[in-house]
Amino acid sequence: DLVPVRRALLSVSDKTGLVDFAAALAHSGVELVSTGGTAKAIAAAGIAVRDVSDLTGFPEIMDGRVKTLHPAVHGALLGIRDDPEHQDAMREHGIEPIDLVVVNLYPFEDVRRSGADYASIVENIDIGGPAMVRASAKNHAYVAIVTDPEDYAPLLNALEMNIGSLSLEFRQKLAAKAFARTAAYDAAISAWFAETLEIENPAWRAFGGRLESVMRYGENPHQQAGFYLTGDRRPGVATARQLQGKQLSYNNINDTDAAFELVGEFDPSRSAAVAIIKHANPCGVAEGKSLKEAYMKALACDPVSAFGGIVAMNRTLDAEAAEEIVKTFTEVIIAPDASHDAQAIVAAKKNLRLLVAGDLPDPHSPGLSVKSVAGGMLVQGRDNAVVAARDLKVVTKRTPTPQEIADLQFAFRVAKHVKSNAIVYAKDGATVGIGAGQMSRVDSSRIAARKALDAAEAADLTEPLTKGSVVASDAFFPFSDGLLSAIEAGATAVIQPGGSMRDDEVIAAADEHGIAMVFTGVRHFRH
Ligand code: 5GP
Repeated sequence: DLVPVRRALLSVSDKTGLVDFAAALAHSGVELVSTGGTAKAIAAAGIAVRDVSDLTGFPEIMDGRVKTLHPAVHGALLGIRDDPEHQDAMREHGIEPIDLVVVNLYPFEDVRRSGADYASIVENIDIGGPAMVRASAKNHAYVAIVTDPEDYAPLLNALEMNIGSLSLEFRQKLAAKAFARTAAYDAAISAWFAETLEIENPAWRAFGGRLESVMRYGENPHQQAGFYLTGDRRPGVATARQLQGKQLSYNNINDTDAAFELVGEFDPSRSAAVAIIKHANPCGVAEGKSLKEAYMKALACDPVSAFGGIVAMNRTLDAEAAEEIVKTFTEVIIAPDASHDAQAIVAAKKNLRLLVAGDLPDPHSPGLSVKSVAGGMLVQGRDNAVVAARDLKVVTKRTPTPQEIADLQFAFRVAKHVKSNAIVYAKDGATVGIGAGQMSRVDSSRIAARKALDAAEAADLTEPLTKGSVVASDAFFPFSDGLLSAIEAGATAVIQPGGSMRDDEVIAAADEHGIAMVFTGVRHFRH
């Protein structure tokens, strides 16, 4: 299955490494054929090269739109070398076989990214290039197709090893890469159409659901995005009514969802609750007698991070809370409802989005959560575990006081909505320090304590807010170090799932410092 390489056709837009590669090919006796610009570059380096027009007997026409789209080229690429009929056809039409094709395509993706005009982008849709790539890849039994300058050196090595030939396995691997390239190229063209026309990217059909809206962009400006509805009528960001403000962005929707799901944990008949969210993590959560009080307590946890945040609440937005919220730059407000007066206050901020969801999410309700991974989707039931007071197991010598119990439960409910590793300090129904998304629990603990220090400094307090607080951990402390750092920060009581091999060690450390600790038996990882 070794095929000698006698003739190569080179046609590349990206001329990186071209001249050296062409020189090496010529040196090993390969005849070079090439298109306009590529031939010019090769010839300029003093290397012998035939123009493709010489092969086709036809000039490049239409500004290069048609240069290699000719039977003399495609016959040379597609002809089966040991098929007598194909052989006859090649002889009859004077088609000279081509054994190696080196093509990289018009830089459609780069031109599109550069913000070029419509006509220039269309002109950069390569037609002849992909046709040659696909023809050669199909006929990999005889033809090698190189689509990436990174493969020049390995190809020269392989040629040298096999004294001027290439193996079938080598050609197969190149063919696989070639089809991946043309597939990605066409997907980019289709995506560009979708973006330009502001329609759904047709490649997304596989995701199911009903397209609700196409967003200006996804998590970043170079990513396309759409919002799909699953038909689930749960109160939330997907079913809420937007009363005012700019179109919601991809990140807004993601963060608003996180915010509203969090406040759903708090029964509105018992207390008002407010969460301020940044990047899907809370930077402050609090309960209060009124929404205004809850908002101010939540804001005090981390007023710096709250800038540009999303605010969610568990009761109808009223005027006094609205008044307070609009003082800080906020992206989105979501509530079950909003009073007339509150709406009028928010209306003064034209861009601020106000969403009313009609009701609160039920934290106990079943449902699915879906996450995409390369080549698949992970589906799981939503985390609808809610820990009640009767589920708590006191494991230390000291039993938490009723106030501590209330705060422990509050902190654990918040921790459920914080990216792991999650550490949440709370006091008097408000978070005072949140550590989110760290790879080590100790780091989350330290960050939460550090944030509490910063907030205290900003408020001119002499003591960190963690002094006399309680602390929640979304998963067990594997060692006592995380607990010790919480104790150091001033926590007096701890809530955590328990279940570590070293629970005894952690409990002993708590007892030693007179700390009260409860186990929930429930873990709230959120990755
Ligand atoms: P050159 O710089 O050699 O003039 O052009 C190289 C580029 O032309 C390559 O990116 C190749 O994919 C592309 N190409 C080769 N043949 C054709 C053709 O027949 N039509 C079009 N539109 N592009 C081609």
